[in-house]
Parts: sequence; structure tokens; C-alpha cells
Amino acid sequence: MQQPGVIVVGSGQGGFQLATSLRDEGYQGPVTLVGEEPGLPYQRPPLSKSFLAGKTDAGQIELRPAAFYAERNIALIAPDRVTNIDRGARRVTLASGASLAYEHLVLATGARARMPAVAGVNLQGVLALRTRADAQALLGRLREARRLVVVGAGFIGLEVAVMARQLGLEVRVIEFADRALLRAVSATTADYLAQAQLARGVEFSMGTGVTAFTGGGGRVEAVLTTGGESVAADLVVVGIGVEPNVELATSAGLQVQAGIVVDRHLATSDPFISAIGDCARYPAGYCDAPVRIESVQNAVDQARCVAARIVGKAEPYAKVPWFWSDQGDNRLQIAGLAEAGDSAVLRGDPAAGKFSVLRFRDGRLSAVESINSAADHMAARKLLAAGTPISSTQAADPSVKLAALVAP
Ligand SMILES: Cc1cc2nc3c(=O)[nH]c(=O)nc-3n(C[C@H](O)[C@H](O)[C@H](O)COP(=O)(O)OP(=O)(O)OC[C@H]3O[C@@H](n4cnc5c(N)ncnc54)[C@H](O)[C@@H]3O)c2cc1C
Repeated sequence: MQQPGVIVVGSGQGGFQLATSLRDEGYQGPVTLVGEEPGLPYQRPPLSKSFLAGKTDAGQIELRPAAFYAERNIALIAPDRVTNIDRGARRVTLASGASLAYEHLVLATGARARMPAVAGVNLQGVLALRTRADAQALLGRLREARRLVVVGAGFIGLEVAVMARQLGLEVRVIEFADRALLRAVSATTADYLAQAQLARGVEFSMGTGVTAFTGGGGRVEAVLTTGGESVAADLVVVGIGVEPNVELATSAGLQVQAGIVVDRHLATSDPFISAIGDCARYPAGYCDAPVRIESVQNAVDQARCVAARIVGKAEPYAKVPWFWSDQGDNRLQIAGLAEAGDSAVLRGDPAAGKFSVLRFRDGRLSAVESINSAADHMAARKLLAAGTPISSTQAADPSVKLAALVAP
């Protein structure tokens, strides 16, 4: 019988990195990556960016070629799904019927797109964007569509809106909140990005919900709104957030609370099971409540942290979160994590298309949002990691280089 090794559930960004980092750390036992999506592990960010623009194809977004897994002795089982965890026996069961033993199990199950519970959501042409298959379906329809409605002015919605305008579609974004990116960035940054979209011809209906999708012959033809409007659409992309994939953890009796609950070391309530990435809720030092973060950085750094612990180099997870979003000519980069009540200090001039917004909580820097200002972003990551004090006067003065404030 094969010696039990590490089994990773989910072959997305976090799962891939976990398996890779285990080998980088010199782990000698079996490493098995089980993924329910077909094909090789791939990156999701291009799905709403270069892939939709037709600038990269399915092969170019793969994280590594097939040979990489063989060279590293990583067993990739895909497509297959882990359907059950027997914690007592330390075994998992796969949909294919296989049963595998583990010495450590890592849940990297990610999240799935949330869909509104309204009539017509299953009509053809109403799509979400989470997987490579979703992006391929969307790409095909974008070529034929003329009128796109994007539901939700979050990162994915805004990125898709820009792309669709570039392809010449009429685009309307419908957002329930009264501004874009409500939970993610300050009003200054959100307004700048929304204005850039307006200038490109994207229309917005803010403070507006969707009550139904209507259609004919099984295909979407319009979106009905809480404002009583019927917005014509031959394509709808829903970008209203995600639901973490926690069902496997729940049925295994692990602690779950809007995400798989993990400790500072990213261990679940079972010490032989860890959880990382979009599915995991962890106690971040700089926030009052535990957080679940959806970003490549978070999935990658958490994977590295757990891989190191498995080989005996346990350290609490304490990386500064960072994120990016590309919207046409604008690159937004965020370092840190802001909360709704954090104050905002503007640095630079939005009219110049280049600025940062520094967020403060209780007088301490909590996050920095940078538009086309990579130097500010890189410095911000270092300032946040070091906990370097910075005043709002320094923050607002572009002649004070943030990098110069970083302790040597
Ligand atoms: C369109 C799009 C654009 C994005 N853009 C950015 C960006 O610009 N910057 C950024 O930082 N982040 C971006 N993100 C977010 C980023 O891609 C995610 O945060 C990251 O992929 C999370 O990695 P993960 O491994 O936790 O989850 P995922 O990458 O979602 O992988 C989880 C995998 O587990 C599989 N799975 C679930 N349950 C099981 C099971 N029981 N058995 C087997 N397999 C299972 C899922 O099918 C999935 O393949 C974007 C996401 C999307 C969808």
C-alpha cells in the first residue's frame, strides 16, 4: 500500500501552489492534487482580462505545462471531485470511487459565482465568470452579442464592461449599491474608475437591483430592474460576488462560518486538515474580525505557509494582502485591507490619471489604493509589512516619496 501523503482538494491557484511549494520545501512523500475542473491548473485573472480580449488562449493561462507535474512527482487527478472526508480513517473518497489516504489534507476548494435568485436566471445568455469554461462560453457569445448588461459593479463586472466596450458592444452596468466597488475601495477610487468607464461609453444604473431576466425561445432578451425598467440585453454577465465552497468541510464536521474557519497557522478545527485561499476565513492581525480574502496573493502566500508547516517550519500567516485589477488603461493596485469606516487621504491628482488613496484606521495606515502608481503600491506593501507610522500630511504630499519612509 502506498504511504499516505498530502492530498490537496482543488487544483486552482492555491492548490497548485501548495503542491509546488511542498516539493520546493523538499517534501518527499506523495503529493496528490485533485481538481474537479478538466485540464491543467490555470490562472483566473486573465479570464476577465487578456483572455476575453482574445490576447491569450487557454494554453497560455495554464500555470505550468503537463511535464511539470511529472517532473515534480505531483499526481494530478482531474477532472474528479472529492466527495467525502473520513477524518477518523484520514481518507478521502472521490466521485470516481477511488479512496485515498492522507497524512495531511489541504482544502483549497475556492469559491463559485453567486447567482441572483430571480426568474429567468437560467435563460441562455445569462452567464457568470469564474472558470475557464465560463470564459470560453462568454468569449463565444461576446462575438455575436450587441447589448450586454453587467449585473454588479465589482472588479469582475467592471473588467468585463471595459472589454465588451472595446469589442463595440453597448454596455449597461446595473449595481444595487449607490456606487461601484463599495466594499473594496474608497469613493474617490471607485468614482475615478466609474468615470473612466463612462468616458468609454459604459452606462450605469446605480442603486438598482435586478428583479428578473426575460426572454424568448429560451434566450435572454431583457433585464427587469427594481427601478421598473426593462433593459434590452442579448447577453448578461452576473458579477455579484462568490460563495465559498465549504460543503465538503461542513459535511466533515469542520468549523465553518461563511468560509472554512482556520487559525493563525491556517489549520482547521482538525489539526490534520488545513484550508487556504478563497474558501478559508482566517484571523488577520490588522482586522477586528477574521477575513476571507479573494486574491491570487492570498491563495499563493497561504499555500506557501501551509507547505512550510507540513515540513516542520511552522510560522503564523502574516502576509500583507495585495490585489490588482486592470480596467482598460487603468491599473488599480491595492495593498492592505480597508474597512468601510477607514478615512481616505488623496495623494496626487485623479485628473492626471495617476494617484493613490491612503486609508487610515485609528491613525494607522490600513490600506493603499493606487491607480497607475506602481511605485506607491510597492512602497505601501513595505510600509504595511513594517507597520511604519505615517502621518496624513506625509500621505497627502506627493513630494514625500513613500519608499523613503520605509525603515531600512
Ligand atoms: C474572472 C476572475 C478574475 C480575477 N482577477 C483577479 C485579479 O486581477 N487579481 C487577483 O488577485 N485575483 C483575481 N481573481 C481571484 C483569484 O483568481 C482567486 O482569488 C484565486 O483563484 C483563488 O484561488 P483558490 O485556489 O483559493 O481557488 P480557485 O482558484 O477557485 O480554485 C479552487 C478549485 O477547487 C475546485 N474544487 C472545489 N471543490 C472541489 C472538490 N470537492 N473536489 C475537487 N475540486 C474541487 C474548484 O472547481 C476550483 O477549480 C479573479 C477571479 C476571477 C474568477
